[in-house]
Amino acid sequence: RAKQNGRNTVSRFDPGQDRLVQQRQVKRRRFARAIENGELILHYQPQIDMATAEVIGFEALVRWKHPKEGLKAPDSFLPLTEGTQLETSLGEWVLRQALTQLGCWQQQGLVLPVSVNISPSHLLNPDFVPRLEGLLAANPWITTDRLKLEVVETAAMHDIKAALDTIDRCQAMGIEVAIDDFGTGFSSLTYLRQLPVDMIKIDKSFVRDMLTDPSDLAIVESVIYMARRFDRALLAEGVETLEHADALLGRGCRLAQGYGIARPMAPEAVVEWLQRWRERTDWQGLARQSRF
Ligand code: C2E
Ligand code: MG
Ligand code: MG
Ligand code: MG
Repeated sequence: RAKQNGRNTVSRFDPGQDRLVQQRQVKRRRFARAIENGELILHYQPQIDMATAEVIGFEALVRWKHPKEGLKAPDSFLPLTEGTQLETSLGEWVLRQALTQLGCWQQQGLVLPVSVNISPSHLLNPDFVPRLEGLLAANPWITTDRLKLEVVETAAMHDIKAALDTIDRCQAMGIEVAIDDFGTGFSSLTYLRQLPVDMIKIDKSFVRDMLTDPSDLAIVESVIYMARRFDRALLAEGVETLEHADALLGRGCRLAQGYGIARPMAPEAVVEWLQRWRERTDWQGLARQSRF
């Protein structure tokens, strides 16, 4: 076996490499158990229309409530799931949980959409649409306009036909689809033409430095122009300050999400946050001054 390996590959008998592979397997098994044991939770981050200061929805962001290590961010465990069945297991848990939360909020009189991040291989899984239909059928009091999906450019890239087909079918059900982290993938221009997404989310890396880095500002302005020409809704991620908000709104980007508005929060905190939000004079003031 070792002889078949190419020059640049590590020998099968390298004990260090073997240990790494084993550790990864152990971590994957632990994560699979964490899903079953109910150790995952969703936090929710508001998305607003800066021109009116109205909350337009919440993005669901997964966290792992690790019994020993505390609350873990997705970047620390999502890579473990990549390319394995765990990606779909996690994705289905997130969809089911988001729908349950929508039901809870609805009982409290809170009717707002929730956006769920869908990983590439989950989206391209042939079972994706039928399983989603099943989940929606099990929650008939939740209308499909309350669930939104966020997909990354790379998801579509991998198999554009399959991605297109899935996105079409979701939209036919009444579910809006957003393209996430826009500008970080490849061939944004051509794919935007092919992908009939409802919303574009400008990646936070461009927003962060747009006030100091002319190239980032150029990218933000180009995406704003493109969204308008393609007639897509546009949301800026990573809006951390009112200065960012002002610069975006002045250039015609109305929708925003970011720490300057609110950090992702536990679902129990949402109702109280909404009350406090209406009293935030800074954001209400920005909306009053806007030309929209
Ligand atoms: P994303 O979908 O682009 O989500 C936005 C990320 O930016 C979140 O990080 C959010 O907490 C963070 N963020 C929001 N506002 C700001 C800001 O003003 N400044 C900065 N610096 N960051 C901000 P988080 O929660 O750590 O999630 C990271 C990524 O993990 C997400 O990026 C998404 O790609 C992925 N992810 C999160 N939840 C899920 C999930 O349920 N399923 C899947 N497949 N992926 C998920
Ligand atoms: Mg997202
Ligand atoms: Mg994003
Ligand atoms: Mg991101």
